[in-house]
Amino acid sequence: MISEMIRETQEQKLKHLLAYVSAHSPYYQKIFRKHGVDVDSIVTVADLAKLPFTTKDNLAAANDDFLCVPKSRIADYVTTSGTLSDPVAFYLTDSDIERLADNESESFRRADGSEHDIYQLMTTIDKRFMAGLAYWMGARKLGAGMIRVGPGAPFLQWESIQRFSPTVIIAIPSFIPRLIDYAVANGIDYASSSIKSVICIGEPIRNPDFTYNELGKRITSQWNVKLYSTYASTEMGAAFTECSEGKGGHLNEDLLILEVVDEEDRVVNEGELGEVVITTLGVEGMPLLRYRTGDLCHVYYGPCLCGRKSPRLGPVVGRKQQMIKFKGTTIFPPAIFDVLDMVQEIELYQVVVSKNEFGNDEITILLPMQLQTTFFREKLHSLFKSRLRVTPLFQFITAEELTFRIYKQEKRKPEKLIYI
Ligand SMILES: [Zn+2]
Repeated sequence: MISEMIRETQEQKLKHLLAYVSAHSPYYQKIFRKHGVDVDSIVTVADLAKLPFTTKDNLAAANDDFLCVPKSRIADYVTTSGTLSDPVAFYLTDSDIERLADNESESFRRADGSEHDIYQLMTTIDKRFMAGLAYWMGARKLGAGMIRVGPGAPFLQWESIQRFSPTVIIAIPSFIPRLIDYAVANGIDYASSSIKSVICIGEPIRNPDFTYNELGKRITSQWNVKLYSTYASTEMGAAFTECSEGKGGHLNEDLLILEVVDEEDRVVNEGELGEVVITTLGVEGMPLLRYRTGDLCHVYYGPCLCGRKSPRLGPVVGRKQQMIKFKGTTIFPPAIFDVLDMVQEIELYQVVVSKNEFGNDEITILLPMQLQTTFFREKLHSLFKSRLRVTPLFQFITAEELTFRIYKQEKRKPEKLIYI
């Protein structure tokens, strides 16, 4: 369980937060009135259960009502990724940006980073993306260096690695096999490069038992780099980042209160799966109380082998809203990605989830044309049968068309999954 000292600090910050939103948040003022909430009766973290949850729908419906400061005090405008819905606006004040920097420098430190490191950023820093900015600020705060290459562009990535000798890559992990393939095809000696680790954002690299999943295996079997997983979101404005033990992302208890709840909204026990619910601490622009992220993770409250006592979250097993009911089986998209990542020949894919005429979910996997052989289809069929017990539909299109569909200009991340 959380140590006494952490609990006390969190409770002080919680008290401050409740007074702050009561005074400044039109949304929470309304909610407190509606539910007859007496904020003075909320003293401990367990007392938070007296408050209703805040959902993604609440946030979308009353977006600007969450803002606690006049718009003239907003320093940076960002939006959520909006995988399943329209992106929601988030407003950051100067102090919120500072909080992001604190979070990210601590997150780098947890992933064994120091002022001696040089980070190469392979995600976007613009496009209203909070994380890119956070990485840059975090590296600066840590006293480390950063090369902002951005997503894609394997030539520029390798040229930068050879020119500046960065030690750490920050990337969406499914980009790394592409980076390796480019090096192989162009005679670049990637094995003896300066890179020693990769901070993996946006996609899991581990199974719930912390062994590498297929993507994690694919990277580490080809390249001797250490992988650190990090889980974050715009709403949290903070990250759960793994330490060298690789046994889940650590909570930064200065910045978030964590609850992990089951279907009946009860806090789950050690090692159990539940939905991640967060309360943000120290946020000035848009603080959130008991925000339901929709992300399902296993939670570990016990101390970590690294010596830290903060709770840890296992890999995101799925998003609640992304649960697919397919031919009587419940599947989350990461499980489908994991099967596809096992197949050496597959470099590009897109998973399309749609509803058929009976309102049931259908899964279609788009693959490049050159893989369209009877032998390959049968191989995929049996692989899916053995791993997920069901087989999706496969559709083959040209590699150009597939690349176009996945790497859309206006999107911040490659679209491995779409809903139509
Ligand atoms: Zn640890």
